[in-house]
Amino acid sequence: MKNKKCLSLFNKSMLIMVSIAILSSFTYSKDIQQKIKLEDQMEIMNEYNGENIIEEKNSIEDIHQFTYEPLPDFIKQKIQGISWKENPFVSLDDLAYVKICYVGFDDQDHQGELIVHKKVAKEVVEIFEELYKAKFPIEKIKLIDKYGASDELSMQDNNTSAFCFREVTGSSKNLSKHSYGIAIDINPIQNPYIKGKKISPLQGKQYINRLNMQKGMIFKNDVCYNAFKSRGWTWGGDWKSLKDYQHFEKNISLK
Ligand SMILES: [Zn+2]
Repeated sequence: MKNKKCLSLFNKSMLIMVSIAILSSFTYSKDIQQKIKLEDQMEIMNEYNGENIIEEKNSIEDIHQFTYEPLPDFIKQKIQGISWKENPFVSLDDLAYVKICYVGFDDQDHQGELIVHKKVAKEVVEIFEELYKAKFPIEKIKLIDKYGASDELSMQDNNTSAFCFREVTGSSKNLSKHSYGIAIDINPIQNPYIKGKKISPLQGKQYINRLNMQKGMIFKNDVCYNAFKSRGWTWGGDWKSLKDYQHFEKNISLK
């Protein structure tokens, strides 16, 4: 009886000692791991020069910006004679430069830029913030100047864009709402312009059946439609004489 008690006491203390040993070796290895991690990081930090790290850090932060501002000088220079030409209707000071984040067709976050009229800049930022939060997929958002201000080339590349000083599609008399920065085209290939037999861009042909829902398409009452519509914008997909599924515009007083 006594021996048994002694044995169980011995067993218990052995158990405690083993536990302590395991625990301390665990914390020790954790310490080591942390130390190694820190050393690795230091080494990596030493391998790069400081500038590279800062650049990389900034570019990660930049992606998630939702901002608007008067056109910076470098943008004014970039668009002069391309998407903006000297004209009596819209000045460079009427326009705003918008930076937004969006979810691409690759499900990754991307930084996009738009030029819009300064009177709608705030709500355009809000709209794209809403689209981003809802993960509405947009293939790309680049200034149309990257395509030499060619609406055709921009559409063929499935680029989402806003301001461009140009005539209404199919007319040489009237200025498009895009000329004032109060119209935005989204995912043109998935949301083509259709008038009679004309489809623009041509790759949009496979998306003319609007009942066949596919990535990047806009539908009545979906998140994209509602984001614009709730702020008083009109959708080209609601028009009767023609359909411009990519197009949203807002009628505002421009004076
Ligand atoms: Zn348009």
